[in-house]
Amino acid sequence: MQLQTNKAWHHLEPQDVIGSLDSHQTEGLTSSSAQQRQVHFGPNSITGQQPVPAWKRLLLQFHNPLIYILLCATLVTFFLREYVDAGVILAVVLINAIIGYIQESKAEEAINSLKKMLSSSATVLRDGEKKTLPATELVPGDIVFLASGDKVPADMRLLECRDMQVDESALTGESVSSEKHLQLLAADTVLADRNNMAFAGTLVTYGAGKGIVTSIGDQTETGKIAHMISEAKALETPLTRKIHAFSKLLLWVILALAAVTFGVGLLYGMPASETFMAAVALAVAAIPEGLPAVVTITLAIGVRRMASRHAIIRKLSAVETLGSTTVICSDKTGTLTENQMTVQKLLAGSHSYDVSGSGYQPEGDIRQQGNSVSLSDNAALHHLLVSGLISNDSRLKEQDGRWTVEGDPTEGALIAAAMKAGYELKQCEAEFKRIDTIAFESDRQYMATLHRLDAQHNLIYLKGSVEQVLARCTSQLTADGDTEALAQDAIEARVHEFAGQGMRVLAFAMQPVEQTENTLAPFNAREPEQSMIFVGLQAMIDPPRAEAIKAVATCQKAGVRVKMITGDHALTARAIASQIGLQNNPGQQTDDLEALTGRELSELSDTALTEVADRVSVFARVAPEQKLKLVTALQSRSHVVAMTGDGVNDAPALKQADIGIAMGISGTEVSKEAADMVLTDDNFSSIEAAVEEGRNVFDNLIKFITWILPTNMGQGLVIMVAILFGITLPVLPVQALWLNMTTAVFLGLMLAFEPREAGIMSRAPREPDSPILSAEMIGRILSVSTLLLIGAFGLFQWSQLQGASIEESRTLAVTLFVVVQSFFLFNCRSLTSSIFSTPFNSNPWIWGGVSAMLIAQLLFIYTPVMNTLFHSAPLSLNQWLLMLGYGVVVLLLVEAEKAVWRKRKG
Ligand code: ADP
Ligand code: MG
Repeated sequence: MQLQTNKAWHHLEPQDVIGSLDSHQTEGLTSSSAQQRQVHFGPNSITGQQPVPAWKRLLLQFHNPLIYILLCATLVTFFLREYVDAGVILAVVLINAIIGYIQESKAEEAINSLKKMLSSSATVLRDGEKKTLPATELVPGDIVFLASGDKVPADMRLLECRDMQVDESALTGESVSSEKHLQLLAADTVLADRNNMAFAGTLVTYGAGKGIVTSIGDQTETGKIAHMISEAKALETPLTRKIHAFSKLLLWVILALAAVTFGVGLLYGMPASETFMAAVALAVAAIPEGLPAVVTITLAIGVRRMASRHAIIRKLSAVETLGSTTVICSDKTGTLTENQMTVQKLLAGSHSYDVSGSGYQPEGDIRQQGNSVSLSDNAALHHLLVSGLISNDSRLKEQDGRWTVEGDPTEGALIAAAMKAGYELKQCEAEFKRIDTIAFESDRQYMATLHRLDAQHNLIYLKGSVEQVLARCTSQLTADGDTEALAQDAIEARVHEFAGQGMRVLAFAMQPVEQTENTLAPFNAREPEQSMIFVGLQAMIDPPRAEAIKAVATCQKAGVRVKMITGDHALTARAIASQIGLQNNPGQQTDDLEALTGRELSELSDTALTEVADRVSVFARVAPEQKLKLVTALQSRSHVVAMTGDGVNDAPALKQADIGIAMGISGTEVSKEAADMVLTDDNFSSIEAAVEEGRNVFDNLIKFITWILPTNMGQGLVIMVAILFGITLPVLPVQALWLNMTTAVFLGLMLAFEPREAGIMSRAPREPDSPILSAEMIGRILSVSTLLLIGAFGLFQWSQLQGASIEESRTLAVTLFVVVQSFFLFNCRSLTSSIFSTPFNSNPWIWGGVSAMLIAQLLFIYTPVMNTLFHSAPLSLNQWLLMLGYGVVVLLLVEAEKAVWRKRKG
């Protein structure tokens, strides 16, 4: 391949760039040449940061205060000549590190694989046709279209640009968007000023353009610095930080207790080596080693479950926040509705018409009070349908008899309506050649196109929201092609009628201009005082999604308020909102659903806005910047806000929201970049699913914490009591290590796989600032710890009195912990409801885990090797029965305690 790809592209004329990259301005690359280049240059992706090598990550596992203690213990034990013990402690430390390493990499893998699901695409010119390809398939020489909201997929020299602004902060750190142009730049222009280039990874925030790819992948400017960008640690969240802080505190407390133990032991005149072992045993036993790892794993499992329900988490902290969401602000179109638009009503030349048929299939006809109509009878109807057809950037496609829209569904509906009347897109486009366009943008609410009409005239077609179009009209087109005074009231009455039924209404206008006016720039400049001719209305239905109706009901029952925020007309929004079952906030006087418009919002004072944001559920004709205001208003009332958005202008609101949600299908790259979560199906019900999973993650974490703490606390108590009474240690350090590790991995971890509990969406959201453990849970942890103390200590003393060997008595104490924690595990499957109403086999992991634990413990008790390593000894059947009996007692006591709490709460 003879391409030179390292020129000073900004210093070359577009033609020369195209020449040296052997491409073509209007045809692009051929697919065969693109294929060759792909083979030569490889995929357009950034290899990025070298991953931390495995040995380093493994070493990092030892960077943990607990491990330091254990390593010290190994050393001291070694000097005390307890070589076997030293070896066992060391082995356990190693195994612990390896398990931690494996699980952490798995969690990280799960999260990284999600990034791949969010790969972006690019619109490219190939073989003379516009195509959408995965961005990885771009090659140097490709001609790429850029539009506001896109992420620039590769470095490129611009060939066309229209008011294009690009946010290059990712590359240059400059937060002000740079304005792009096509002019030649001096060879030594610095990167940040090369404004005739667009660089990979930057974001188009305004306008549109076209460029030719000059370099891809690691060759791009971003690729070159990618190894310097260090990503924030993926596995950290507020909760994991809280738990780390808690573990650290615990560590100091335990160290202090260990010191006291040591002191007390010495006071009692025990030999120093023995007291030291007691202090080590206390430290080792009382620290919940498994806690941080299991928290991360539980979060990662939540992330995976959400992904399988169409919600991709971009920031791990979102998993926690989702569980405490109190308000979801959702778009209407496409999220709560199907985005399957069908035109049903027309108004033209003061007549209204019905359109039959459904979907985008151009089958159906246009009737006036049941009678078929002839288009030649009504000039206004002709212009209405034609402007809908050609003032349009979307396409309908047929495949196996199924019609789908490529582009904006609203525009798809307009095409279908015109085709039902017999118009052909190709023919109309040829007849009225388009010269210029002002593309539709949400905050503009209209689209305008300029067409060649005849030798002297051009024609402007305008389509958009009723307010925007009527503001520009002074007259209207009659059925016989004349103009008359604008009948504003009559038109608005129709709009009310259509919108009141939940239809989206678009208004149309036109204006013939001199041929000399061959750009829409003046139209743009002199808005909105044009004297245009109103042509008519097209009203389309967009049915609510059946799943959304259900999901909204579920959310509202779960104490999560749902608010609709839309650019659509207030009446349309309200009608759809009530079809979906959106409610006013509880405690309000009227049953009528209140709807406010952006205009009304802008007139409110800040305090009034806060009140209204909280009270009202439907906001219409909202400008994107008002979304940001609504989010902050809600947050100031301590709401945890989830907010959806798809456009460039939604990015600030998405960032501000506690959970910013972008649309995977219809959303811009900019909005995805700003979001915490992306919906792969654009569907509201996926938000509800994510909230549900978020709550479940939190539940499972609390279940795990409630389960694990008694193990540590119970052992700590046993050891302290032994010291205080001057009795031999019932649990040795190596045994405590065994106990903590095996139970955490085989038993506790299985709680992370607990499925959602039935009532998960019928209780209020968790308070974000509430402590992790409620009083109820703390009480349970304390009582189970006490039961463990009584059981283990009692059993140990009893067997000692019976004259059993010290090994046998210790084995009893350790095994009692295993048995009781196995039973308690089943209690913990639900923190509130009865064990008897928890489905028996809804979490097969639990059964697998308990079986594995049993096998491990049998090895511990009955194999000679383990007997030497861990100072254990075989037990008898009677001893087993005794322990099992005690386990059942604990299980029943905890259930009784749960039942009391349930009664108290009613
Ligand atoms: P939503 O929040 O429902 O997605 P939009 O911001 O997309 O609302 O649309 C706002 C208004 O702009 C619509 O009510 C409609 O009147 C008008 N509109 C929507 N799509 C187009 C389009 N492609 N061309 C012209 N006007 C449009
Ligand atoms: Mg829209």
